[in-house]
Amino acid sequence: MSYKPISEIGEFGLIERLSKITAPSAKKRPELLEGIGDDCAVWQLGESEVQVVTTDLLTEHVHFDLLTTPMHHLGSKAISVNVSDICAMNAFPDYALISIAVPPKMPVEMVEELYRGIEHAASAYGLAIAGGDTSSSPSGLFISVSMTGRTTPEQLALRKGAALGDLICVTGTLGGSTAGLHLLQRERATMIEQMRNNEPYNKEVMAELQEYAEAIRCHLLPEARIDIIDFFSEEGIVPTAMIDISDGLVADLGHLCRRSGVGAHIDESRIPVLPEARAVAEEFQQDAFDWALTGGEDYQLLFTLPKSQYDLVAAHRDITVIGEITEKEEGMLLTDIFGMTIDMAEMKRGFDHFAG
Ligand code: ADP
Ligand code: MG
Repeated sequence: MSYKPISEIGEFGLIERLSKITAPSAKKRPELLEGIGDDCAVWQLGESEVQVVTTDLLTEHVHFDLLTTPMHHLGSKAISVNVSDICAMNAFPDYALISIAVPPKMPVEMVEELYRGIEHAASAYGLAIAGGDTSSSPSGLFISVSMTGRTTPEQLALRKGAALGDLICVTGTLGGSTAGLHLLQRERATMIEQMRNNEPYNKEVMAELQEYAEAIRCHLLPEARIDIIDFFSEEGIVPTAMIDISDGLVADLGHLCRRSGVGAHIDESRIPVLPEARAVAEEFQQDAFDWALTGGEDYQLLFTLPKSQYDLVAAHRDITVIGEITEKEEGMLLTDIFGMTIDMAEMKRGFDHFAG
């Protein structure tokens, strides 16, 4: 038997292989409406209710760096990224379980600070922390959050369901999280250099971080768009398909299109890039559009709606129409700001944990 390194098939290749192993148990449960493959698993609770459930693991040195991440921000983010997946189903969050693996030398006060952030976010989103699990860790901090939410079968929005001619809409702005990450990584390098040289903390770094507070906030303290789910509920809007942007617009639009069996055509000039991200990108001599398209971790919602419902979202100042759903055969196209149309399949993809 020959062994294959995971990096050869990537994160999504691995999940696909694992889902084949677990398919038989899932098949035995007809009330399981969606298993592996959407932002949440979905099962029927009764005639008029469905439960949505998600889980996310945050790993030190992979998802966060304790040198640049305050513990209460980390706690808040751990909750927000899960609420974002619940919102992506057009559902509202109910309960969360928190599991942590902690290095034994970590101060108790740091873990308490993490939990203050968790509790603050939970209260803001109206969900309850109902339990969890605790373990020691030989290498770094791990935080796993599992969360349940609820909606009705009529309001449920899946990744599949986008139809030919539907409008492709995005909430808020993109690129902010990647801009914030670049600033924090530069700050980290400066801090390490200063520590090595026994120099005092450089105040200039701090001043720059304040100048770009919004981008840093996007990275450290993303907010799940539960306000948009409220808006949908008030206006009676049910997206034909929806996903949250965690891997990057191009990658997540790819997930939505694959599940829906459709293509997409988006217009780069319509993509709402965070203005501050443009300034940061200039400093780093990088492209803010590229950050918006492939950066990830912005936790905005990407959804589709029939054209006839355009008026319902047109007036919302935080929803932008960026393109249209096309036939599957047309693939995923992007018309750039110079009017050139390029195939998104050829662009750098979103984050893959095992990509080489
Ligand atoms: P998201 O970015 O929305 O959190 P992921 O890309 O992490 O979604 O996961 C995609 C799908 O794969 C989800 O339905 C998730 O439940 C499933 N999944 C991911 N990892 C595993 C795993 N190790 N075992 C089973 N299912 C998994
Ligand atoms: Mg998601």
